[in-house]
Amino acid sequence: MADEIVFKSVAELSAKLAAKEISSSELMQTFIARTKSLDGRVKSFNSFDEPGALAAAKAADERRAAGQAKGALDGIPVSLKDVIAVEGQPLTCSSKMLANFVSPYDATVTTKLKSAGAIPWGRLNMDEFAMGSSTENSAFGPTANPWDLTRVPGGSSGGSAAAVAAGFAPWALGSDTGGSIRQPAALCGIVGLKPTYGLVSRFGLAAYASSLDQIGTFAHSVEDAATLLGVIAGHDERDSTSYRAEVPDYAAALKQKKGPWRLGVPKEFFGEGLDPEVSAAVKKAIEFYKNAGCEIKEVSLPLASEYAIAAYYIIATAEASSNLARYDGVRYGHRSKSAKNVVDLYFQSRAEGFGEEVKRRIILGTYVLSSGYYDAYYLRAQKVRTLIRQEYQRVFTECDALLSPTSPVPAFKIGEVGDPLAMYLLDIYTIGVNLAGLPGISVPCGFTASKLPIGLQIIGQPFAEADLLAIAQTYERAHDWKSQHPEL
Ligand code: GLN
Repeated sequence: MADEIVFKSVAELSAKLAAKEISSSELMQTFIARTKSLDGRVKSFNSFDEPGALAAAKAADERRAAGQAKGALDGIPVSLKDVIAVEGQPLTCSSKMLANFVSPYDATVTTKLKSAGAIPWGRLNMDEFAMGSSTENSAFGPTANPWDLTRVPGGSSGGSAAAVAAGFAPWALGSDTGGSIRQPAALCGIVGLKPTYGLVSRFGLAAYASSLDQIGTFAHSVEDAATLLGVIAGHDERDSTSYRAEVPDYAAALKQKKGPWRLGVPKEFFGEGLDPEVSAAVKKAIEFYKNAGCEIKEVSLPLASEYAIAAYYIIATAEASSNLARYDGVRYGHRSKSAKNVVDLYFQSRAEGFGEEVKRRIILGTYVLSSGYYDAYYLRAQKVRTLIRQEYQRVFTECDALLSPTSPVPAFKIGEVGDPLAMYLLDIYTIGVNLAGLPGISVPCGFTASKLPIGLQIIGQPFAEADLLAIAQTYERAHDWKSQHPEL
């Protein structure tokens, strides 16, 4: 039974629950058993709450038997990146700093999942405080790519992507500040959606770079991504950046939108540094849209392609240095045992609690915000950001969405990209989307000759998730990449 279940979409699982072909308890036991037997090789989970999960599944079964199911998702398991709060569960951000921290409350997305009956049970590995593109920066060790255990799953939400790809979780949540949902989804061969900035509440998401962070979804199918987005999206009083608007039923909207669309292809995104196999697969996907009747337009994003990485690594590190100031050994997390006075306590707790990449970012961020350098770096990066946003606005006057690779390369070997700058450059296609606050999705669009997944990124207009999902599904319907699964 297990194999029939673990790679099914949530749409299929919830139909099985409704038809009483399976119970939530059986579903939960199946995922837990698979995770216990195989995640030792992938290491996608930091922890999970087995008794809590089984108790919640039993309660869902009882509700269903009594005709009181909370809805189609009642009793469906969901796993969360270890940066999103679930009351009573660990919230480590894959950092030594928070290794023993337990969430005192639920994030808004968690509350919404629970009201839909979904069961948040697992905590997924990530780059420490979401800083990275490979999940190698986790204080608890790297996660492996289920397609090739010697390779990275991408990052920073690598645990989320790997867990879904490996059949440990039918879907998952992650966070995307510069590509952390789309890039690991691409490298693991699943669907990853980063919504428009402001569409999903960040209350209960440990902050990395607040003007860029957004919670989003990992799933086997575009339909599941739409369903999960429908659960978590919407205005929240507790997040001042949250957008005030009615949230459409994305899964229903998906059925209505038919195209054809005007699709832009940024010419700079097919230049130097792009792996030839990735390039070929993405070009083939573009060809598909053309044959499906879409208008394909070559567009130009000169500023985004030239300056997005530089602007991002100034803005993100500046915000990180401010957000991470709260980890001082007094209020949260790790407290040094050897400090002799209070100043020493701050220094030593931070020196012991944070990993190398996090320290690098705090130092960079503090530098670009410091008096005398603020104008030269931070202020300038903000101006560049505005220009980049305007550049996207301009191309969106003639296109409904943009098509590009998600990542310039397929999954690389663990340890292969040692230089931090080289790692930053891998965010080239995803980062501009965050600077401009746009929605983006990565859908599987093939494999390399050595069977590593490749992702197609589709970038949408602000709050046009319904169109974005429909464009993605048009491709998905005609290509059955998702029936292939890694063998563990
Ligand atoms: N790789 C980027 C960074 O390290 C993006 C990470 C993210 O989206 N959280 O900042």
